Amino acid sequence: RAKDGGRNGSRFFTVDMSAESRRKLRLESALRGALERGELLLVYQPQADVVTGRIRGCEALVRWKHAELGMVSPAEFIPLAEETGLILPIGEWILRTACAQAREWELAGQPVRIAVNLSAIQFHHGDLAATVAGILAEHSLPPELLELELTEGILMTDSARGMETLGRLHDMGVQISIDDFGTGYSSLSYLKRLPIQVLKIDQSFVRDIHTDPDDRAIVTAVIALAHSMKLKVVAEGVETDEQYIFLRDHRCDMLQGYLFSRPVPAQEVWEMMAAETAAAT
Ligand code: C2E
Ligand code: MG
Ligand code: MG
Ligand code: MG
Repeated sequence: RAKDGGRNGSRFFTVDMSAESRRKLRLESALRGALERGELLLVYQPQADVVTGRIRGCEALVRWKHAELGMVSPAEFIPLAEETGLILPIGEWILRTACAQAREWELAGQPVRIAVNLSAIQFHHGDLAATVAGILAEHSLPPELLELELTEGILMTDSARGMETLGRLHDMGVQISIDDFGTGYSSLSYLKRLPIQVLKIDQSFVRDIHTDPDDRAIVTAVIALAHSMKLKVVAEGVETDEQYIFLRDHRCDMLQGYLFSRPVPAQEVWEMMAAETAAAT
């Protein structure tokens, strides 16, 4: 009886679970084997120089292609990977794969910097600077060809260890950028204290740039602030000519968005760079 009750109880629980929780459980167990099964891949989104239109760098973005679940968005599975700790092996695989790609392009005569997103857990776990140094050495990649994208949340943590990690990455020659700038905390004092080279304006400020005067004011101010601190500015999520013209006229340095290119397989970035080189010679 008691056994039956227990079984009924657990079945009841299953039935009661929201579709959302069931999907989460399903994803979580599938994610455990995703790396081993080779289901993860990287795509690369070019960043264009606003003045010349040429590719100045690109951002590596992870994709998960599951046999039954189809394409799962990183917005959905990265938080899961963080909750489960899987972000550590996955994050290391992402770093390694991006560095191998950057080295391949460099050897082929088209050096281009690749930006890799780091999760807070990766940043604070173990010895990130040593991990990065190891991966760079493994691939003989010049550190300037690697950029690490950190969010404001990570940079705001005032831990001595965090500072030391940043300092060591910077001393190695790795570029550091702030992702989704403007969506995090409001204190800007860390901008002058930390060794950062690039500021990425979040796409939420770019989206309505031609209709919303507040967004225009924010973007203009952020560009001025960044330039006064000798930082380069990348605008994210640029989709229209109007956005592009506004950003160009306000001296934004680089743009990233569907207007220029979606995130694409490495081969397509290679072809775009080869076409640029051919056009320039
Ligand atoms: P993010 O780092 O801010 O990446 C930019 C996101 O904006 C990407 O979404 C990109 O595909 C999308 N995007 C680019 N241009 C446009 C545009 O013109 N319009 C619109 N609407 N969207 C655009 P994605 O690839 O789905 O990634 C979402 C988020 O997931 C990323 O935001 C990042 O926070 C996280 N993520 C992606 N790849 C990685 C990774 O390798 N490691 C970690 N830790 N997080 C990642
Ligand atoms: Mg990013
Ligand atoms: Mg972003
Ligand atoms: Mg984002």
